[in-house]
Formats: sequence, structure tokens, C-alpha cells
Amino acid sequence: MIAGGHLTFERFGQPAIELEADYVVVGSGAGGAAAAAILARSGRSVAVVEAGPWRAPEDYPSTTTGTMRDLFADWGALVTQSRALWPIVQASCVGGTTVVNSAIVVRTPADCFDRWEEEYGIEGDELRDRVWEHQDRIEDELCAGVVPADARGRFNTLAMDGAEALGWDSHYMVRSVDRCEGTGQCLQGCRKARKQSTNANWLPEVLERGGWVLSCAPVDRVDFDGSRASGVSGRLRDPVTHRWGSSFRVRARRAVLVAASATKSPVLLARSGLKNKPLGTLFRAHPGTGVFGVYDDPVDQNVGATQAWASTAFRVEPGLKLETLAIPPEMVAGRLPGGGAELVRRFAEYRHLAMWVAAVRAESAGTVRPGLFGEPVVRYVLDAADMHRFRQGLALVARMHFAAGARAVIPGIYGLPYAIGPDEPHLIEEGPLDPRAYIAILSHLFGGCAMSADPRQGVCDAHGKVYGVEGLYVVDASVIPTTIGVNPQHTIMALASVFAERLVA
Ligand SMILES: Cc1cc2nc3c(=O)[nH]c(=O)nc-3n(C[C@H](O)[C@H](O)[C@H](O)COP(=O)(O)OP(=O)(O)OC[C@H]3O[C@@H](n4cnc5c(N)ncnc54)[C@H](O)[C@@H]3O)c2cc1C
Ligand code: SF4
Repeated sequence: MIAGGHLTFERFGQPAIELEADYVVVGSGAGGAAAAAILARSGRSVAVVEAGPWRAPEDYPSTTTGTMRDLFADWGALVTQSRALWPIVQASCVGGTTVVNSAIVVRTPADCFDRWEEEYGIEGDELRDRVWEHQDRIEDELCAGVVPADARGRFNTLAMDGAEALGWDSHYMVRSVDRCEGTGQCLQGCRKARKQSTNANWLPEVLERGGWVLSCAPVDRVDFDGSRASGVSGRLRDPVTHRWGSSFRVRARRAVLVAASATKSPVLLARSGLKNKPLGTLFRAHPGTGVFGVYDDPVDQNVGATQAWASTAFRVEPGLKLETLAIPPEMVAGRLPGGGAELVRRFAEYRHLAMWVAAVRAESAGTVRPGLFGEPVVRYVLDAADMHRFRQGLALVARMHFAAGARAVIPGIYGLPYAIGPDEPHLIEEGPLDPRAYIAILSHLFGGCAMSADPRQGVCDAHGKVYGVEGLYVVDASVIPTTIGVNPQHTIMALASVFAERLVA
């Protein structure tokens, strides 16, 4: 056994890494790190086992390609395998997806707890109070605050102008960033180390309290001693060459907590032999889609916080959250229709483009199952009601661009003109209902190991404990049985904190 600290890749042929801790946490993103911090604060020993590498902020890439290479698993190749191949965006590094997210902090709306109680038998009032209490603490620890005026950038203030002109309720976002400099690089990792991703705070704290972080360590399976989870094992993986290294085994004296994400936790449990029928079901998402507004004066979306404006006015009806989103120039080029000289001509307008998006609070549910090599296979497609919402979201954003003074909107929808004018948002409203006609991504993910009071419906109980075995808990987005209509990291962190707190109590 080794004293606490950060351990990482060892070549094949080196002795196997053997560790033991009271609690073993698989995954170091929003859920895993939040739980690990609570466990470490209770005085118990904690080992966090993370598939990806620990990158220092100064080593974060500055391009999308670099991000996919250095911070994602398998170059971000995971897509929905259904009618449309929509990318599922997740990071794989110490800090998980919090390293590449926009740090938007939104409290869990009260209606989520009501719904979980009605549909999944999760006692709502008690959970709500505990979650909100932890959200108070988390906001404090992660420096949550409204994006400062000097870091907003024109593409965010324009959105406020558009919403105000239409009389829609909206706000500048609260984000977990300590003095944002508005460099617009959140999606590549904050090189200024201002964003409070979990590798910047809770994971160093776990180390300071004598815990371990084992990076480059994709867990292959949860090990069992009879029906009790006794630890995890796998083989280290080189973060650059992806060659396999020496093996590792981390024993858990008290419990294993799985926080490998909504796509990876269900397949890890399945690979480990769990046969619970609901495993991999109730996978849901907030598909995100957007349109460009074209403005006469430069907008310079690379200047200002990546995301700083939002509206929840449509969260309940029809089920949409509107936001600004600055994407890097290479993604803008990829998002514009056309190729060759035509694309170059269109891209010349880069400084005049603003991307605003709608996150759809979709009701459709899919599945996550292990593929041939144990990788997640996600089957997920929006039903007709969700496709109506999706289309409506794009039309609302287009109208907002025109209200803010855009001279045109580039819808990026198959079958529609390259650009439409102020009298034409109805073309989007009447657009196709086939998901293949649209560009969308899945970045807010839910379910797969859903919690429910009924083991026939959920994989875990209301404490995150996996049914049918002892000492095994799930503490990430995969326990959330529904979509929530707001950005999920705050909910995931608080739920993981509540589950961890109950565990040590
Ligand atoms: C581009 C983008 C922007 C976003 N912006 C926001 C935002 O501003 N606000 C917000 O609230 N939400 C945002 N989100 C969503 C939010 O980041 C996620 O919902 C949240 O991080 C999910 O937490 P998690 O713990 O479930 O998984 P993750 O944070 O993804 O962490 C899972 C970790 O587990 C590791 N892992 C997986 N398999 C294994 C294995 N077998 N062994 C060991 N480790 C493993 C992964 O490498 C990863 O590090 C954004 C997401 C994206 C993609
Ligand atoms: S906008 Fe720039 S400084 Fe602000 S959190 Fe994002 S990457 Fe960091």
C-alpha cells in the first residue's frame, strides 16, 4: 500500500498498482469529485479512480481538435446510434466534463423533486431540502456569481437586447468562475484557471486530506466478494499512445461509488455482471441546437465569456432553455453549410456571427448498452412531440436575433435556404420533423442507472444504492430519472453530496 497522492500511468511490465481505501470513487467529474470531497471531509480514506489524465490548465489545448485529442475519450467519437447520429459530448480527464463545460450554475427547480416523487417514488421534500442546502455550500465553495459586466462580450449583451425587445424574461448567467476574464475558451478548458472545474478544488482537497487520485485508469469492472462490492480493477492506459500499461486493483473497505457518467456508468455495471432489468434504460438528454445571427457590426463571439446570457421563460412550456454559446472558429466553419470557395466566402463573415442555442427539455427516453468491446452504445431518438419543441426552440432563437437587429439568420437546417430574413422565421417553424435534417449535440445527459423506489423501474434507490448488491452506489448524472430543463452540474454535484453524506452518516 502507498501513502495518499496522485498516481498515474505505469508501463506494461511494471508491478501492478494495489491500493486500499474506505471508499473507492470511479470517475472524477461533477458527481464523483463532489462525493469524494464529502467522504474525505468525514475523515475516511478515499481513492478516486479516473480513466483520463490529469492536465494542468497551462497544458489545455486551444483548439477543438486538441480538446478532442487531449480531453475527450476516443476523440469524442460517441454518437447516438439511431435515426440521427448526434454527437454525445463528454470529457475524459481528471475533473471530467466540468473541465470543458461552461460552469453554468442553476439550482434544481422544485418541480423536479415533485416529479421524481410522483413518477419514481423518491421522497421529494426531504431530498429537495438537502439538495438545496448543499447547493448553498457548493455555490460558496465554487465562487458562483453572475458573469461580470466586463466579461460579457457583445454577443451576450445582444441576446439581452433581443429578449428585452420581445419582452421575454432573461438574465446574465451565474457561473462557478472566480473572476472570469472573458476569453471565450471554456469549452477547451480554462487556461486562466478561473473556472472552478473539480480538478481545481475538490480533487486537490481529497489529496490534501490523504486520499488518492489514480489517473489514466479506466476501470474495467467492479469486483465483488459474494454480493458485496469489494473494489475495482482494470489496466492503466497511456494518455498519448493509448497503449495499455500495468494493471491496477483498488480495494474498498466500505463501498464503491460509481460516477463514470450517464453513458459509462450503466455499461460499467453491466460489464461487472449486474443483471438489473432497468440498467441502461431511461437514458435522456437536453439536445442542444442553435442558429447563427448575422449582424452588420462585428459581434466577435470569441470576446467574452463562452456563455453568459440565458432565458428560462420557456422551460415549462414548451420545454426549452435559451442560451448564448460562443464556439471556436473551426467549429463555426464546420457548422456553416457549403464547401470550398463558397465556405471561405461565408466564413469571411465570422466576426459578424453570433450563435444562440436552445436546449430541449426532451421527454424521449433511450437506452445505453455495452457494445462488442464493452463501449457504450446509445440508442436515442426524439419523438414527434420533442421534435416540435426542438423546431420551436430554433424559431424562438431566430426571432430573438431579428429583435436584436440581425440582418439575417443562418438556420443550418437541411432543406431550408442558407440564410433567411426577418419575415421568414416561420420557415423554421414549418421545417422538417426528421432529426437528420438538424445539427444537434447531446451534452446534458441523464439516466441509465436511474433512481426509483421500485427496483423494477430503477437501478438505485433514493440513496443511490444499487439494488440487489451491497456496498455499491451510483453518484452521477445517470441516477437522475428525468430531464430537468436546466444545466445539470449543480444538481449532479448536490445529489452526489447528499448520497455521500448519507453514506458516512
Ligand atoms: C460542452 C459542455 C458544456 C457544458 N456546460 C455545462 C454548464 O455550463 N453547466 C452545467 O450545469 N452543465 C454543463 N454541462 C454538463 C455537465 O458538465 C455534465 O452534466 C456533468 O459534468 C456530468 O457529470 P457526471 O459526474 O455525470 O460525469 P462527468 O463529469 O462526465 O465525469 C465522468 C468521469 O468519469 C470518467 N470515467 C468514465 N468511465 C470510467 C471508467 N470506466 N473508469 C474510470 N473513470 C471513468 C470519465 O473519464 C469522466 O472524467 C456541459 C457539458 C458539455 C459537454
Ligand atoms: S471565459 Fe475564459 S476566463 Fe472565463 S471561465 Fe471561460 S475560459 Fe476561463
